[in-house]
Amino acid sequence: MTGPADRVLVLGGGMAGVACARRLAEEDVAVTLVDRNDYHQFQPLLYQVASSQLPAEDIARPHRAIFQDDATVDVVTAEVAEVWLADRGLVLADGRTLTGSHVVVAAGARPNFFGIPGAAEHAFPLYSVADAERLRLHLQALLRDAAPGTLDVVVVGGGPTGVETTGALAELTDALRASVRLDQPGRITIVDRGDALLGEFSTHAQEYVVRKLREAGAEVRLRTGVAAVHPDRVELDDGGSIAARTVVWGGGELGSSVAASAGPEPGRGARLDVRPDLTLDGYPGAYAVGDAANIPSGASGTWPQLGSVAQQSGKWAAENILRERRGEPARPFRYKDKGIMAMIGRNAAVAEVGKRHHQVEGPVAFAAWLGVHMMLMSGVHSKTDAFVTWAWDYFDRDRTATIEATSTPQRIAWGDDQADRPHITVD
Ligand SMILES: Cc1cc2nc3c(=O)[nH]c(=O)nc-3n(C[C@H](O)[C@H](O)[C@H](O)COP(=O)(O)OP(=O)(O)OC[C@H]3O[C@@H](n4cnc5c(N)ncnc54)[C@H](O)[C@@H]3O)c2cc1C
Repeated sequence: MTGPADRVLVLGGGMAGVACARRLAEEDVAVTLVDRNDYHQFQPLLYQVASSQLPAEDIARPHRAIFQDDATVDVVTAEVAEVWLADRGLVLADGRTLTGSHVVVAAGARPNFFGIPGAAEHAFPLYSVADAERLRLHLQALLRDAAPGTLDVVVVGGGPTGVETTGALAELTDALRASVRLDQPGRITIVDRGDALLGEFSTHAQEYVVRKLREAGAEVRLRTGVAAVHPDRVELDDGGSIAARTVVWGGGELGSSVAASAGPEPGRGARLDVRPDLTLDGYPGAYAVGDAANIPSGASGTWPQLGSVAQQSGKWAAENILRERRGEPARPFRYKDKGIMAMIGRNAAVAEVGKRHHQVEGPVAFAAWLGVHMMLMSGVHSKTDAFVTWAWDYFDRDRTATIEATSTPQRIAWGDDQADRPHITVD
């Protein structure tokens, strides 16, 4: 094995891994951050890429650019094949091994297809920039075949991902109806097994979301499960089916496979069960954070898989590593709850803000959404005011969405150093 013994290894350069590495870099701790991509991907805006509202480069910031001023952070672009928690080591797919004084597993999540036949093969998950690009290119290709029904879409899952994607696709369809050649550009249907969309929200917010999606032209089908996915239709568990050549999967997630096979028996959702201080029982010097971990929240179970939980837990793990180095005990994670929110489209957003989840809708909810997203981006972009301008423009105005090959979505004028470009590959 190679690698300095006092180096902290961070597996994953998402929200949790970046927050962890940044905090350690502030104290000049040597960090090796390993990610399969040479860029950080901002998942909350993936649906904007899929629906052609934003170019992919805008939500894929190169790790080297993020850490350009952090001399102690070494970025390695490689697939991690195995995690050796007992040795605090990572085995890379090319055979290299790295070891350190600590290892932080921040490998995120993957879609959960629940074993539904055809879902993994034919549905489009929305977990990575490559996923979003794949969906965008698929829709663009279908647009060339302008027969009625070609652009019908089924979105599976009524959580925030499903709701936001449905809203964005309904807008896209509407824009196509208004601006181009199609009378019936497509039908967008969101399907969920439960009694409501956005199960975590209040009944009032759930009703608001259904109303707004229907106003935007989407169909909402509740108490309806998906039994199988085919290239041209979705089979439902009530015996019916919906014809669609595009099925977007927002149906749930599992902890990343490399984390799940790291050693400890995975817990709920194939995530690693961590102790309150984010360490892994029986593996000194090993931490798990963000979507890869089940982080205890006290009596009520675990914190949800949210960007703010990922960012705060990544930073907290760094603080605990710094405490360990000073010979102090690690402290239990304390989450500052910012609330939950979803943007349904222009002029429609819902949020339950703060610890008490005070409910707001419309522009006020959008402002809350914007505040939280700026905070999530702050570790990655040096300036976020350009994002605010872009987002208000999107929310407020009737700017036409398009998936036509010839047009380019409006860019966010980040003002960051763009010399280092992400290498986005879509297979
Ligand atoms: C479509 C979508 C919309 C969302 N919207 C919101 C929202 O509006 N607000 C909110 O708070 N949260 C939102 N979330 C949740 C939020 O994005 C996640 O909770 C957060 O990104 C988790 O951060 P993480 O660092 O744990 O994982 P990730 O951000 O997923 O990062 C994991 C990293 O690990 C890398 N990796 C994984 N396995 C390996 C391996 N074997 N080898 C090398 N590298 C590896 C990946 O490439 C990735 O960069 C959304 C999620 C999705 C999917």
